[in-house]
Amino acid sequence: MAVLVTGGAGYIGSHAVAALQERGEEIVIVDNLQQGHREALLGGKLYVGDLRDADFMDTVFKENQIDAVIHFAANSLVGESMQNPGKYYHNNVYGTLCLLDKMNEYGVRRIVFSSTAATYGEPENVPIDEYDRTKPTNAYGETKLAMEKMMSWFDSAHGIKYISLRYFNAAGAHESGKIGEDHHPETHLIPIVLQAALGQRPHISVFGEDYSTPDGTCIRDYIHVSDLADAHVLAVDRLREGKESAVYNLGNGQGFSVKEVIEIARQVTGREIKAVMEPRRVGDPATLVASSQRARTELGWNPTRNKLEDIILSAWRWHESHPAGYNDQR
Ligand code: UDP
Repeated sequence: MAVLVTGGAGYIGSHAVAALQERGEEIVIVDNLQQGHREALLGGKLYVGDLRDADFMDTVFKENQIDAVIHFAANSLVGESMQNPGKYYHNNVYGTLCLLDKMNEYGVRRIVFSSTAATYGEPENVPIDEYDRTKPTNAYGETKLAMEKMMSWFDSAHGIKYISLRYFNAAGAHESGKIGEDHHPETHLIPIVLQAALGQRPHISVFGEDYSTPDGTCIRDYIHVSDLADAHVLAVDRLREGKESAVYNLGNGQGFSVKEVIEIARQVTGREIKAVMEPRRVGDPATLVASSQRARTELGWNPTRNKLEDIILSAWRWHESHPAGYNDQR
C-alpha cells in the first residue's frame, strides 16, 4: 500500500517524503510544482497536477493502491493571504474538498493534515494547547481551520479519520544537505536572515518593534523540519492502528523573538546581518509558542533537533551550499 503525499515537493512535504523513504514506504506524490521543486524529492513517484483536477486525481487513485494521505498542498503565506484571500479559499479549502471527495470515492480512510498555529490567532494562553480558542487573525489560518472542520464532517459522515498537525514555525534543513527551504518569493524569517548573511539581501526588515513582548518583536516557536516530518510518519502509523481522529500541536515549547533569531544567526554564521526596523506586518500575532505534550504522549513524538542554534546551523549549511536554492526551471 502507498502513502499519497500532496504537496510533497514543497519544503515540509519533501522532508516528509524523505522520512517515509527512510523507512521503506511506497510513496506517491501529487504536486502542481507551483511552489514545489522536482529536485526536492529524494524518492517516490511524482504526478504533476492539481488536486482540483478530477480526471488527474482519478488517474492517481486508479494507478496506485493508496491507504493513507498526507496533505500538504496549500498556499501558506500570511501576508499574501491578507491581500488575496480568494486564492487561499480556492486552493486550500476547495482543493481539500476535492481531495476528500476523491478519498471518499476510492475508499481511502486516513489523512494526515498539515495545519498551523495560525488557526489559534492571538492566543489566550501561552503555551498554546489544542483546547485553546481558535480565532485566526489572518486568512491563511482561517482557511486551514476550515479545512480541519471539513475533515471532521467527513469523519462523521464517511469515517475518514484525520490527524491534524498544527505546526509552529518550521525551520532548518535535512541532514543529508540535499534538501532545504526554497520559496519564491521568500517571506520567512530564518531564510531571509540567512540570505542577508550571504549578502544576497542588504538587510533583514524587522516587522514591528512595538509588540507586548520583552524586546517588542514577535515571538515564535521554531521547530526543525525533520522533527515535523517524523510526526507525520507517526501519525500515519496511528491512523493505521485504527485510532480516532485528533489534533496535535507541534513545536519545541520555547519562544524566540525576531531580534533573538537574528542574534543567534549572527553567532552561527559569523557574518554581519544588518537589521532595519519596519512597521508591523498585518495579521501577525505577537506570540505563538506550543504546548506539544499531547503529541508527545499520544503520538510518541520526540523532537530531537530542538536547539535553535542547531536548527539555524542546518539551514545555514543548506543556504551556503545552495545559494540559488534548487535553481530549477519551473
Ligand atoms: N518577520 C520579520 N521580517 C521578515 C520576515 C518575518 O520580522 O522579513 C517576522 C514576522 O513578522 C513574524 C516572524 O518573523 O513575527 C516569523 O515570520 P515567518 O514569516 O517566518 O513565519 P510565520 O510566523 O508568519 O508563520
